[in-house]
Amino acid sequence: MQSKDMNRVLYINLTKRATSVERRGDLFDEYLGGTGVAIKLLEEECPRGIDPLSADNSIIFAVGPLSALYPSASKTVAMFKSPLTGNLGESHCGGRSAMAIKFAGYGAIVIKGASDIPVYLAIHGDDIHFRDASSIWGVEAQTVGRILREVEPGSGVRSIIRIGSAGEKQVRYACAVCETYRHFGRLGLGAVMGSKNLKALVISADKSLELPKAKRKDYKKVYDELQGVVVKTDAMEKYHDLGTAGKIYDLNKIGGMAYKNLESGQAPEEIARELAGENFAEKVLSRRVSCAHCPVGCIHLASLREMYEPGYYFKTSIIPYDNETIYSLGFMLGMTKVEDYLRLIDVVDRRGMDAISTGVILAWATEAYEKGLITKEHTDGLELRWGDVQVYSEAIRKIVRMPTEFYRDLARGVEHASSVYGGQDYALAFGGNEMPEYHTGIACYLNNLAGARHSHLDSAGYDLDQKLLGKEFTLEEVVEKLLKEEEWRQILSSLVVCFFARKVYTPAVIPKALDAIGVKGWTSEKLEELGREIHRAKMNFKFREGFNLDTIRIPKRIFEVPTPHGLLKEEELRKALAIYKERIGSG
Ligand code: SF4
Repeated sequence: MQSKDMNRVLYINLTKRATSVERRGDLFDEYLGGTGVAIKLLEEECPRGIDPLSADNSIIFAVGPLSALYPSASKTVAMFKSPLTGNLGESHCGGRSAMAIKFAGYGAIVIKGASDIPVYLAIHGDDIHFRDASSIWGVEAQTVGRILREVEPGSGVRSIIRIGSAGEKQVRYACAVCETYRHFGRLGLGAVMGSKNLKALVISADKSLELPKAKRKDYKKVYDELQGVVVKTDAMEKYHDLGTAGKIYDLNKIGGMAYKNLESGQAPEEIARELAGENFAEKVLSRRVSCAHCPVGCIHLASLREMYEPGYYFKTSIIPYDNETIYSLGFMLGMTKVEDYLRLIDVVDRRGMDAISTGVILAWATEAYEKGLITKEHTDGLELRWGDVQVYSEAIRKIVRMPTEFYRDLARGVEHASSVYGGQDYALAFGGNEMPEYHTGIACYLNNLAGARHSHLDSAGYDLDQKLLGKEFTLEEVVEKLLKEEEWRQILSSLVVCFFARKVYTPAVIPKALDAIGVKGWTSEKLEELGREIHRAKMNFKFREGFNLDTIRIPKRIFEVPTPHGLLKEEELRKALAIYKERIGSG
């Protein structure tokens, strides 16, 4: 059984401005927390077939039994119906969010309904306020953070989750920004918050976490063991040194990096060297920061010094960078300078947009413009050109402002825009979600198509592709490995630990870690079984909302450009999908 605070669910109804708390030991004992509990709450709270941008949608934030108690157990899971894909929306974020929710005395927060005026929620433990957010509606995400830090109490263990103008305008891939450099990035949580007139949540509290007296020695022993693996072995070292950007150069070298809307799987050598993690570190890295209770410091911040007026007047902006955004706003858009990529991510971040989706959509639009499917009339006068940071910055502003029908279409994602203007063969979305970084082979595309979130994080297909280079393998083996990985990740995201710590939190160690905080009875076999069950529940939610593995669109472009395994064949990928479908017994 979990601690008595962990099973408390805070229900907030924005329409009625009402709150209530229920003990849901039934869910937390069976599904641990995080993803496992969130999918069950989503099944309860999200009626079938609703409009994701209506008051009927619900947002669920959930933490897990390990949150705030063990190193790198720093993430919060958000679940909702996605306005981008029309089915499962799930996004994970660190910062101080998990610690704040847990110290506030909750295992999950469910937000329903919609407010008639802009509001933000101030959740200080059991003291909850609906505050008028009219004066900060329209204000950029970073500035909102600064304002709320001034006016709300609780600094130290306080988390501020908010949206920018993209969320307010319900751009379908708007994100929610957390603290200063973290995001609930993918699948449109920001748009759902915007549709509810919910500008922000401030969560704080100062409760302490109770551990069973008899277990304190065990807890310290397991804690030290885990901390030792995190800081004294190479399990997470690479995330500290160069951050996730450290793998970019090698990925490009093997031809697994999508460049200019996947015109090629490899950027020219000078661009790869320019946009590699090593170059960022040498040129612009100013510091590393961490999520709360994580010693790794994988969040890499660049300082960009720019003249704003002739005569030696400079401003310095601190901008986070990582491999996924270097791919989408750098490689995909043909950027040739670190500084240009940083300028672009700053524009995206201020408005609170998912940087992966934004880059992929602009890459499609650039190719469609080159091919004459769209013209200056559509773009409101912009001449879309690879590598043109000024034009792309303006296009991003226009996506949010929506001055023409074309930008309104871009704001709905590339799946939608290409269905209106054509160019679907090179519209790089899978299941409605814009493509993540990798063009490594069949495993990464099977991951994108069949993964519950259509994200590289579902089952790390890119990693499997690279491990399989030069080896013989069958489609059945690929499906089996991907499914096993995705099922296991449901456990990590139910506990909730950061996926970067997956080598630390092994099936052998997790039962010990749970037992040491008084959560008894878990074995590695039982965990694996639960992972399978949670994965199926997520897939069933998708199928319930109309997702279909038989009819899913596959962009032709991925079969035209060699991967590190050579050219991918459509019939092979369709066959792998059929095996996957049979293996999960549904869809
Ligand atoms: S490894 Fe990075 S993303 Fe993961 S919890 Fe630590 S700082 Fe956050």
